[in-house]
Amino acid sequence: MPVTPSDKPVYRFAPSPNGLLHLGHALSALLNYDMARASGGRFLLRIEDIDLARSTPEFEEAIYRDLAWLGLQWEQPVRRQSEHFDTYRTTLEQLHAMGLVYPAFMTRGEVKARVAAFEAAGKTWPRDPDGSPLYPEDDRLRSEGERKALMDKGLRHAFRLDMGRALELLGKPLTFRETGDGPQGEIACDPAIWGDVVLSRSDAPSSYHLSVTVDDAVQGITHVVRGLDLFEATAVHRLLQELLGLPEPLYHHHRLVLGEDGRKLAKSEGATGLAALRLQGLSPLDIRHLVGL
Ligand code: GLU
Repeated sequence: MPVTPSDKPVYRFAPSPNGLLHLGHALSALLNYDMARASGGRFLLRIEDIDLARSTPEFEEAIYRDLAWLGLQWEQPVRRQSEHFDTYRTTLEQLHAMGLVYPAFMTRGEVKARVAAFEAAGKTWPRDPDGSPLYPEDDRLRSEGERKALMDKGLRHAFRLDMGRALELLGKPLTFRETGDGPQGEIACDPAIWGDVVLSRSDAPSSYHLSVTVDDAVQGITHVVRGLDLFEATAVHRLLQELLGLPEPLYHHHRLVLGEDGRKLAKSEGATGLAALRLQGLSPLDIRHLVGL
């Protein structure tokens, strides 16, 4: 895959067009922009629209409008992930050829039922940092013949990473370099906390982890600046980078803008939406102040 070399720092803001931008996005976008400017670097915008069911052209337009209003300028063309499914597919095939991918047939409901039955017996099923149960091992343990038979039957399936095998192949501890608002320095990380992560779904030929890792490399991103809610996900991105021979960016996970209830903002919260605040008469400078910049 073509990797863009750059002698300048390269930053990116990578929103998903499945809702309106809020103050949390403003902080992330402004930080990326300010850091790029301060270092004489480049600022890219990436539209993360692999979730075709939830992404809309209207939300994408709103992203451009809100960011332009904030005073941001970004390079053209903007990378839209939905235009690069072939690239993600090729990368998935690469991992497949390494023996690290298997078809996963269980639906969310089936996993939920399995976990509930297990926990009814007073035991605790392991969960990932976001609180989702780790995927059961049934599909990973199937023979190639069984997998093929189920796929030939037309059973819907995702593709998952065989985490155990991937870590075995990697054969060394993983770290990343962090300068953000949480822990700093050389951070030891263990992607096994996520279990066998999804690499592609039956309705989307890529996953967040796969496309973000591929794109950061393709776009030559040197500095990943994003919210602390993605701090733990970095372990998976570092693993994929190592397996695929991709460069390692520097990471900066920034504090989150919290709502009045102390919780992370959601896209549905209109009151903190940038468009709503603009309509109320706030200026871009007011937004900077509101997010503590
Ligand atoms: N698209 C992700 C989001 O909107 C951000 C991905 C990233 O910055 O790595 O939360």
